[in-house]
Amino acid sequence: MITNDKGLLLVISGPSGTGKGTVCKRLLEKNENIFLSVSATTRKPREGEIDGVSYHFYDEDKFKNLIAKNQFIEWAAFCDNYYGTPKAPVEENINKGKDVLLEIEIEGAMKVRSKYPEGVYIFLFPPNIETLADRLRGRGTETEDVIAKRLERAKQELEMCTKYNYYVVNDDLEKAVQEIEAIIVAEKARKERNKVNFN
Ligand code: 5GP
Repeated sequence: MITNDKGLLLVISGPSGTGKGTVCKRLLEKNENIFLSVSATTRKPREGEIDGVSYHFYDEDKFKNLIAKNQFIEWAAFCDNYYGTPKAPVEENINKGKDVLLEIEIEGAMKVRSKYPEGVYIFLFPPNIETLADRLRGRGTETEDVIAKRLERAKQELEMCTKYNYYVVNDDLEKAVQEIEAIIVAEKARKERNKVNFN
């Protein structure tokens, strides 16, 4: 009687160090219907990151070539590197009924929103600014200079939260994930996303 064959486009942003990666990982473990979009970046891989899984690691020439070929839904420069969302996997999976998750920074998210206003935009907050700095340092993968840049950017990003539809605080991982799951359930029930056939 009710049909809804398209998946949701879920966009999660939040300052570096908010724990977006961990939240998204847990969300994926718990929900088979969610497809994580693998971004492209010119950043160097961190230890343990796998090409094609964590990111597609490209050099600047290749990245610019893909921009020119219109292969990205959006791209942005973030702390001296480029990041972009490949278009084809996102569209294919949404059309297959999968919910597609983008874990991207705010500038890119706003570009996505102008193209996909029907997407669901979630802003993830750290419990407080001190936790953010501690988490960035605790990662142990970045130099103090990079950490300082990311903290500065984090403060600017927090001010952009009003551009999103939902706020989730990452104080407790399981609770944050449950809140996002609740958002997904509610969004899928919206009348605008469902067709009703009375026959
Ligand atoms: P990191 O270098 O820590 O992996 O990512 C830095 C920032 O880039 C994070 O805020 C992350 O969400 C964002 N990011 C990752 N992939 C993309 C993307 O495809 N597009 C945009 N605009 N930002 C991205």
